[in-house]
Amino acid sequence: MFESLKPMPADPLLQIIAAHRADTRSDKIDLGVGVFRDEAGGTPILRAVKAAERYLVANQPTKGYLGIEGDPVFTDLLRPIIFGKNGGDASLVPGIQTPGGGGALRLGGELIATARPDAKLWLGTPSWPNHRPIFEAVKLEVREYRFADLTTQTLLFDEMMAALRQASAGDVVLLHGCCHNPTGLDLNHDQWREVADLCSANGLIPFVDLAYQGLGESLEADAMGLRTIFERVPELLLAYSCDKNFGLYRERTGALYVKASSADLARNVASNLAVHARVSWSMPPDHGAAVVRAILEQPELEADWQAEVAEMGQRIRAVRRAIASAAPSLSAIAHEYGLFSNLAVSREQVDALRTEHGIYIAPSGRMNVAGLKVEDAPRLVAALDAIGA
Ligand code: PMP
Repeated sequence: MFESLKPMPADPLLQIIAAHRADTRSDKIDLGVGVFRDEAGGTPILRAVKAAERYLVANQPTKGYLGIEGDPVFTDLLRPIIFGKNGGDASLVPGIQTPGGGGALRLGGELIATARPDAKLWLGTPSWPNHRPIFEAVKLEVREYRFADLTTQTLLFDEMMAALRQASAGDVVLLHGCCHNPTGLDLNHDQWREVADLCSANGLIPFVDLAYQGLGESLEADAMGLRTIFERVPELLLAYSCDKNFGLYRERTGALYVKASSADLARNVASNLAVHARVSWSMPPDHGAAVVRAILEQPELEADWQAEVAEMGQRIRAVRRAIASAAPSLSAIAHEYGLFSNLAVSREQVDALRTEHGIYIAPSGRMNVAGLKVEDAPRLVAALDAIGA
């Protein structure tokens, strides 16, 4: 059976994690893996999450199975946070709990491939390295266009629009809702409106990936793009992750919402999602969603969570400002959003950063800004200078 298998390359980020772990230098800096870190370098469990977990230990009545669609109270409690007050009417926008945002992307891909197998998936590059393989795994054709110029750290909006004008009705446009991974370059309000108008005029279906809400500007501002496009198109998919903004990474907590143009179609969408979920993972894991539910059902916990999200965002912006003020050539970093920035560096420079300076970034040049301490910004800048970046 297995003789035909070829060895597959390991995930480059996992290699970075292993190399960082083995590095004995006490001043090493990990800007590789994409998790938020506080100023002390840790990824602690949020206060609101700890409180919710204590609440669950005391009050959770059962570990009996969830339904295939997960906990509808969880997906409903997220609606006002994502779509705004009274937004995302459940009868037109069914939601289903998924194993993380990654699970939501895969499930959305399955739905598209079932509804319209010849749809092309338009993807701006660079993007999160998992996007392309997820959509290829469900046999969708992926069309790439250039989204960002890394040497100038600019978003190539005109190129993006020119590419999307080539898309056919029924094609799908993958859009990062906020905090673009890996560049930190987000569309502004007018640009979101232009993309929305193009999708609406040409019958393109937006698939918004919102994995970092609250870690850019704020919970509200980071949903602006999604809400702008949501109200202008009849059909849309949204993959949502709670793994970053609730700090639940390993609990695999997310949801997929799909806007349909009628209640009848929405029911069809929901039943198709249930079938795909059933054959993929049967039912989603509960704990992360139960924690989110416990937080959002208790106003004092929700307020504390909102304060913690705001603190995370503030720290990321402070690190960005510190890098920009230490190096005028990196000033663009202060105007980017979220965890990541993609430096225009070669593989050799990435290696030199690691071996000579103990600074770990992804081989692609992606840097987790949220992994840096404000006080280490000058050291990063000096190291980049030394490697000729
Ligand atoms: N989309 C993007 C852009 C991401 O960066 C990530 C996580 N790195 C995900 C989706 C998946 O999130 P999750 O960990 O919840 O599966």
